[in-house]
Amino acid sequence: MALKDDISRYMDAGFPILYINTYEEADAEELVRQVADRRKIYYISVAGGYGCFDTGNNVWNVPPTREFGSPGNALDFLIGDIQSLERSILMIKDAHIVFEDTNSVSAIKELAVKIGSGELECCVICISPKVSVPLELEKYITILETDYLEYDEIKSIVERFAHKYGVSITESLTEEMAMAFKGLSATEIDNLLALAVADDGELTRGDLKLIFDQKKQMILKSGILEMIPLKESIDDIGGLEILKDWLKQKAKVIKNINGAKAFGVDMPKGVLIAGVPGCGKSLSAKAAAKLFEVPLLRLDIGKLMGKYLGESEANFRKAIKLAEAISPCVLWVDELEKAFAGIGSEGGHEVTSRLFGSFLTWMQEKTGTAFVVATANDITKLPPELLRKGRFDEIFYVGLPKDTERRKILEIHIGKRRPMDLPEIDIGKLVSSTKGYSGADIEGVVSEAVEMAFAGDRDKLSTDDIVEAINGTNSISEIMGENLDKMKDEYKKRRLKSASKEKGGY
Ligand code: ATP
Repeated sequence: MALKDDISRYMDAGFPILYINTYEEADAEELVRQVADRRKIYYISVAGGYGCFDTGNNVWNVPPTREFGSPGNALDFLIGDIQSLERSILMIKDAHIVFEDTNSVSAIKELAVKIGSGELECCVICISPKVSVPLELEKYITILETDYLEYDEIKSIVERFAHKYGVSITESLTEEMAMAFKGLSATEIDNLLALAVADDGELTRGDLKLIFDQKKQMILKSGILEMIPLKESIDDIGGLEILKDWLKQKAKVIKNINGAKAFGVDMPKGVLIAGVPGCGKSLSAKAAAKLFEVPLLRLDIGKLMGKYLGESEANFRKAIKLAEAISPCVLWVDELEKAFAGIGSEGGHEVTSRLFGSFLTWMQEKTGTAFVVATANDITKLPPELLRKGRFDEIFYVGLPKDTERRKILEIHIGKRRPMDLPEIDIGKLVSSTKGYSGADIEGVVSEAVEMAFAGDRDKLSTDDIVEAINGTNSISEIMGENLDKMKDEYKKRRLKSASKEKGGY
């Protein structure tokens, strides 16, 4: 296991502080014990508790109960008898909380200096679900991250569980479960399996929904990614035929990765979809995941920003690692321009620039099966490096829907709500009166009209209801005015590929 080797290697090389970033505290602690090589392990708790475990004899020399009131006091007590720390490990759990105490930070720094100078053979090992490194300790700390389990490892956990509890499970269900568990830790998988068995004593396909729901919760709790349920399909998108055809071709590759690779096909990296608000960019990201038959994970770059140095990049790495562990998946990076606006310009934020650098490198070197769908409204705010070849497989421009596209969008949204009324609606009339409307505007108008018809005690939706709703609405073109024309000019200048087959104006 890579993390175990890393701990051992860094410790032997005399690195003063290792920071293990994980939710699996018990697992990390166990790994440290396994590599301790007869070193004593001193524990400091958030409450100022202190204990000493003798790994040579597998006993507690000092049970972890003594209280010093604060971790800083407990650390001072230990440093007071520095000899006792010789050839030992000092373990600090919930380090992100301990580091809020300035006394603890200065005590740990004092130790780090001694370890760094060779005066003391010791290693401070911090375990925490969150990376927060005070400036004073930064140059002494090495951040280590847990690796996610591979598909085969997960499969054996499921098999072991079934065997241990005498539950029968078919090979194909084991495989489906192993796929569904990707991105979760061994403890989380065990807990979920126990939960799945608890209701009826069996592991069945019905338990996949429970696994999916719980996994959604766990990913959400990690605070770096969100798992979005797949509802919309490619048929819910009106128009954007070129983009849809392009996605269908990628779907063939993603659904048969091994075959495609063997044939010499490059691994798809992802797509940037930019353009007018409300014209189906997010819808396309969602429909892509459904088409590829893979989970959809949303990455909000704004949420990755942390207050400590290095925290944002660490969060980014974590998000990418998690997405790659869950892959094949679609990683949807929403509002890309908001995250990376102003980079390179004077006053551009340093953390954002570093994060942007990490994103570029990852996109450039990416070989995994996390397919990125990035969406942006205003491409002019994006740094030009992002638009160069090699980052995305393609960049599409999504403009206002043309006549034939609005027809399809109207049919989709009327069809979703009032399919029985569709044959009697004069779609041609609606197409003409919705020039300059986005897909979202059209959806809004249809939804408004349906409500008006219901509230007016009519038994069906009519063309007039929709016309009335249109008359009471301001379209995106009216709202954005000349900004929309400027945007269109910019896209033309950059010669971006149009997502839509239809030529000409709307
Ligand atoms: P924003 O930039 O504001 O996030 P967006 O381009 O991502 O906008 P979407 O979220 O995809 O817009 O669209 C909002 C809603 O409008 C969709 O959920 C869908 O119901 C409707 N819509 C937009 N475009 C289309 C379309 N081409 N076909 C069908 N419905 C559409």
